[in-house]
Amino acid sequence: MRADGARSSIMIPTSMRAARLDPDLAVSVAEMPVPTVGAGELLVRTRACGICSGDVMGWYMQKKAPLVFGHEPAGEVAAVGPEVEGFRPGDRVFVHHHAPCFACELCARGEFVQCAEWRAGRIVPGGMAEYFLVPPSNVRGDTLHLPDGVSFADATLIEPVACTVKSLRRAGLSGGERIAIVGLGIMGQLHVLLARHAGARQVIGLDRVPFRLAHARTLGADVVIDVDREVPIEAVRDCTGGALADVVIVGPGSIEAMELGLTLAGRGATIVLFTASKPDERLSVQPYDLYFREIRLVPSYSCGPNDTRDALALVAARVVTAEHVVTHEFPLADVATAYRTASDPSVTLKTIVTFP
Ligand SMILES: [Zn+2]
Ligand SMILES: [Zn+2]
Repeated sequence: MRADGARSSIMIPTSMRAARLDPDLAVSVAEMPVPTVGAGELLVRTRACGICSGDVMGWYMQKKAPLVFGHEPAGEVAAVGPEVEGFRPGDRVFVHHHAPCFACELCARGEFVQCAEWRAGRIVPGGMAEYFLVPPSNVRGDTLHLPDGVSFADATLIEPVACTVKSLRRAGLSGGERIAIVGLGIMGQLHVLLARHAGARQVIGLDRVPFRLAHARTLGADVVIDVDREVPIEAVRDCTGGALADVVIVGPGSIEAMELGLTLAGRGATIVLFTASKPDERLSVQPYDLYFREIRLVPSYSCGPNDTRDALALVAARVVTAEHVVTHEFPLADVATAYRTASDPSVTLKTIVTFP
C-alpha cells in the first residue's frame, strides 16, 4: 500500500453538482469544486442518498442553512488518502455522517452520540453531492463495506434503520412486548418492521394518514388505529385486553404526539421520545402517575457505530430493504421535486435521490 499520496482508479472531475438548501427551504442544484482528499480521508462518489425526516423539518434545517443537505449516502470510494487502510478505489460503502472518537469517557460508556467528536465531525459538503469527503474519524469509525446483495438504494436505509435499532434497544424491547408506535412515517414503519422481527407480541400503529396505516399493516402491524376516527387510548385498551402498551414509540417531535404517547403507556412501560421538540417547548407530565406506574421516559437521538453495524446486518439479511419502504426515487437533477415530495407526508414514506 502506498502512503505517499492519494490513490484513485477513476478520473475525478474538478467540479461537481450538489443540492443546496437555502434558509427559505428552497432547494437547487449548485456547481462546486470536488473536495481534495487528504491524509486519513476518503473521497466517495455518491450513488444514492436518502432524504431524512430531519432534512424536511423546517425549524431544524433553517438553523443550519445554507448547506448541502443529506446524511444518508452510499457510494463508491473514488480516492483514498495517504495513511488509510482497508479501503480501495471502487469499494462500495456506507458512510455514517458522524463518528465518535472511541477514546473519551462517553464513548467508553457507549454514549457515542454524546461524544464531542461525533457532534463536531461530518462529511463534506454533505450527502446530496456527486462526491463527498469522509473525515479520518468517520473513515476509521463508521464507514462500512457493502456486501454484494446490498444495493445502493438499500444502503441509504442503514442510517435510519440504525436509529430504529437504537430506539428499540433503549426501549428494552426483547420480544414478547406489546408495542404502540405513534406516527407511521418512514421511521414509524421501520419500527413496525423491526419490532415484528424482534418478536414483539403485538405491534400497534397509530397515524391519521390512511396510506400509512395500510402500509404498516403490510409490514406486520397487528392493529392500526386512525387517531382521527377512533379514541386512541380506548382503541389501545381494547386491543391489549386493558393493559395498554409495554413500549410506546413517539415518532413525531410534537408535544401533541408526546402527550398521546403518555396516555398509551401501561404499567412499567417505556416511552421512547424519538424526535426532538422545538427548543422552547415544554411537555408536562404527572410525576405521581409516572412514579406509581413506573413509566420510563427515554429519549433516543440518532445512532452510533454499534447501531450502524447491526443495521447493515439487518439490511444484508433482507429484513429491511428499499422495497419495503422506498416510495419515490429521483435523479439529482430533480432534487427540488424530491425535496417537495419528501415534505408531503400524505404521499411519501421514503424518498431517495440517485446519482447515476
Ligand atoms: Zn436520517
Ligand atoms: Zn468519544
